[in-house]
Amino acid sequence: MSLGPGKGRQASNGGLEQWVDHCILHSVSSFQSPVSGYAVRPMLRTADRLKGFTESVIREMTRVAHQYGAINLSQGFPDFDPPPELVAAAAEALHGNFHQYSITWGSAEFRRALAEKQSRLMGLDIDPDAHLVATCGGTEAMLVALMTVCNPGDSVIIFSPFYENYGADTILAGAHPIYVPLRVPRFDFDRDELRRAFSKRPKAIVLCNPSNPTGKVFTPEELTFIGNLATETDAFIITDEVYEHIVYAPHRHTYAAALPGLFERTLTVGSLSKTYAITGWRLGFVLAAPELISQARKVHDFLTVGAPHPLQQAAVTALRFPQEYYQKLTHDYTRRRELFTSYLRKAGLRFVDPQGAYYVLVNIEDFGHANDTAFCHWLAREIGVAAVPGSSFFAEPVTNLIRFHFAKRDKTLCAAGERLMRLRKRG
Ligand code: GLN
Repeated sequence: MSLGPGKGRQASNGGLEQWVDHCILHSVSSFQSPVSGYAVRPMLRTADRLKGFTESVIREMTRVAHQYGAINLSQGFPDFDPPPELVAAAAEALHGNFHQYSITWGSAEFRRALAEKQSRLMGLDIDPDAHLVATCGGTEAMLVALMTVCNPGDSVIIFSPFYENYGADTILAGAHPIYVPLRVPRFDFDRDELRRAFSKRPKAIVLCNPSNPTGKVFTPEELTFIGNLATETDAFIITDEVYEHIVYAPHRHTYAAALPGLFERTLTVGSLSKTYAITGWRLGFVLAAPELISQARKVHDFLTVGAPHPLQQAAVTALRFPQEYYQKLTHDYTRRRELFTSYLRKAGLRFVDPQGAYYVLVNIEDFGHANDTAFCHWLAREIGVAAVPGSSFFAEPVTNLIRFHFAKRDKTLCAAGERLMRLRKRG
């Protein structure tokens, strides 16, 4: 995206775009102008660790969607409401006595309800006082997990494609990534290649299960293979399971921490965002053995002090939902997947059917665009649907895939699907 003023662009979002432009121009000029009283002197150098960082492409695509008034299937968040009981619980919590910090690692009630739920699901006896730290979303949980285990100079195995935060988080934790490819179209990994990566003695491996962006659900057999390599080389397993409830039959979610012998080395990153459609509440957690959690709590304390107290209180209501809630969630996402992919099929697009999570990678090489980024900008502008260029998830130079998400109302998915049908004639 150009940082220029965007002459001739149609603002379709009540002026938000002009406001963004104003902020961008203002910040650019205050950094560049030699006469500005706010200019940063060249001698003042920011941290080297940020050199390889770019702006989040996922969030950039949300801005592009606004710019063109496109239906936003890029940044993955629902356009439907959370359960009404949960919203009512939040309103009630705001009238209660929860305005100040909770205990830094999570309010006692939140951890108790979370421990009960995760014990039931994972088949483990999770102790709310020993095994959990509540965080500001899964995003903080992942950074806390990496900062808890990594020393400067360590390496961390990350499967590619990967959710864009993992690479940045690894670097923020002072380590560097070793990428191991998941091979299209099944997104399986070469076992010898993974073994070679583990022979470099990484400090940890990061998993995303179910996976953003591939939709892969790791099998117990794959996780056991990874677990054995981690055990042989004394590595930690950091597993991002924020899509634990969004898995499509016949696939099933396996908790890595619940596999024999793996609990002691596994840090599970969880979140309430996807499960209860509350991505803006920023509630997540790390679940791990007491020795790891006692360290993780320190990292969390110094990073953020605590997750929002009234929202932790409200979330207790959600964490106590009966099992039917999760069955309905899976059922609803299965319907959304069928609905959206039926349009992709009708439009003649090639894609990999997701086994879990709410993303689908689509092949765009038949369309003759220079690359996935050019295609996504064209798609938002001309077709009116925003997606994320696949290259932002890959360590390798892959430019023929884009990612859609389908955490949207049926109505939104149908409207996007109808627009995508226009691709049929052009392809
Ligand atoms: N997890 C969501 C996605 O991959 C949202 C990303 C974000 O903005 N943090 O689209």
